This record gives sequence, C-alpha cells and structure tokens, in this order.
Amino acid sequence: THFGFRDVPVGEKQKLVGEVFSSVAGKYDLMNDLMSLGIHRVWKRYFVGTCQVKRGDRVLDLAGGTGDIALLLRERVGTTGSVVLGDINGEMLKVGRDRMTDRGVVSGVEFVECNAEKLPFPDASFDLVTIAFGLRNVTDKDAALREMQRVLKVGGQARVLEFSEVKADWFKPVYDFHSFNILPKLGKLFANDAESYQYLAESIRKHPPQDELKAMMEAAGFARCGYRNLSAGIVAIHTGYKT
Ligand code: SAM
Repeated sequence: THFGFRDVPVGEKQKLVGEVFSSVAGKYDLMNDLMSLGIHRVWKRYFVGTCQVKRGDRVLDLAGGTGDIALLLRERVGTTGSVVLGDINGEMLKVGRDRMTDRGVVSGVEFVECNAEKLPFPDASFDLVTIAFGLRNVTDKDAALREMQRVLKVGGQARVLEFSEVKADWFKPVYDFHSFNILPKLGKLFANDAESYQYLAESIRKHPPQDELKAMMEAAGFARCGYRNLSAGIVAIHTGYKT
C-alpha cells in the first residue's frame, strides 16, 4: 500500500495526509457519524459550548474541514462576531462551503486555505482559537501550537479537541477492535477506502496522550493549561490561555 504511515519522512507526511483528506472529503461527514455512532456531534457541541467566547468575538477554527465547529462557533459569536475557518485542504473547504450554503449560512464565516504550522494572520488577531480532530494530522505540532499562541489576543483561549488515551482498562480491547477491525471495514464498505481509515486508527495511537499534549502547550507558551477527558479519554479537550 502507498500509505506506509508509520515510518514516512516528515516532508512526505503532509502529502499523504493531503491525499487522505482529498480522498475522504465527500464522504467525511457520513463516515464520522458511522464510525462514532454519532457521538462526535455530542463531543463537538460540548467543546464549543464550553469555550470562552462571547458575542462579537473574532474566532479562528483551524483544520476546520467541513465546518462543524465553525457552524457552532458562529451561533456563539452572533452576527456581530466573525469566524475564520482555516484548513490546508481545498477539497474539505469546498465541502464545508457547500454545506453551509445549503443550510442558508451566507455570512459570518470566512474560509482560508492555510497550514496550521504557518498562519497567514497577524499577531494577536483572535479572541479564541480552536482545533478539533486536526492537531493529530499536523506534522509539526509544536509549530502549530506556537502559531495558535501567536495569533491569540492576550487573555484569549486556545482549545484542542482530539482523540487521546483511553483511561478505562475494560474498554481498551473493545476500542482496539473497533479501530483496527471495524473502522477499516466501514471505510471499505462506505467510502471504498480502507487505507485512509487504517491511517486514522494509527494516527490516533501515535498522538501524544493527555499529559504530554498539556506539556507541549506549556512549551508553546500557553498559561494555565489543563485538560478534560470525554468518554473515558477517547477524546480530550485541552485548554490554554495567552497571558
Ligand atoms: N475540524 C473538523 C471536524 O472536527 O470535523 C475536521 C477534522 S478532519 C479529521 C482534519 C482536518 O485537518 C482535515 O480537514 C485536514 O485537511 C486538516 N489538516 C491536516 N493538516 C493540516 C494542517 N497542517 N493545517 C491545517 N489543516 C490541516
């Protein structure tokens, strides 16, 4: 297979991740529902519902893909606020833009094709920066975290929603079976693409667990860093502030 993700050189990872998301873009939303039994919607609602954000704020959602988080954020910042949805992949952005148009959302969200490692925004330009199920895919995560810190205003909050380390022992075998047997089969069946979903399971296992990501956020310059596990640590929400 051409997705030998485990040992690819750093430079190639970005290209491979690009191929994965271009190949899944059209089926992305359906697959999320199937793979998580719809629970990703609950996690995302909780994530946005507990962000430090108010009406009129300017917020950035990185790796925003098809726009689930941006849509929820838009409700929170209201018509006086603005949401920038940044993603490295033009196909994902296009699906997101079409989906918003279908729902009648015509203003308040700006789409920017950009790499989280090197953001095209000035220092201190956002009240809140989020990244949901995205940091895992970024090659240089430390660079992305530093960029998130840079573009935040003082007092602003950064929030990361990401798969993490499952903490309940009894659940681990179930979760492994789901990841390495069910996921690729669902991928094959519904998206004719087992490899992208194999990549998904592998990328989750390689992502830094809770305390390590917290330390990375501290190293990137965030203050008062902390996290909260959801669903026994299947996912975690990390928070940091710019002071
Ligand atoms: N946030 C959305 C959600 O929760 O449904 C999309 C998450 S999707 C699993 C991951 C997204 O990260 C993809 O749209 C992909 O294009 C994007 N991505 C990967 N590497 C990136 C990078 N270096 N900079 C910005 N976006 C990136």
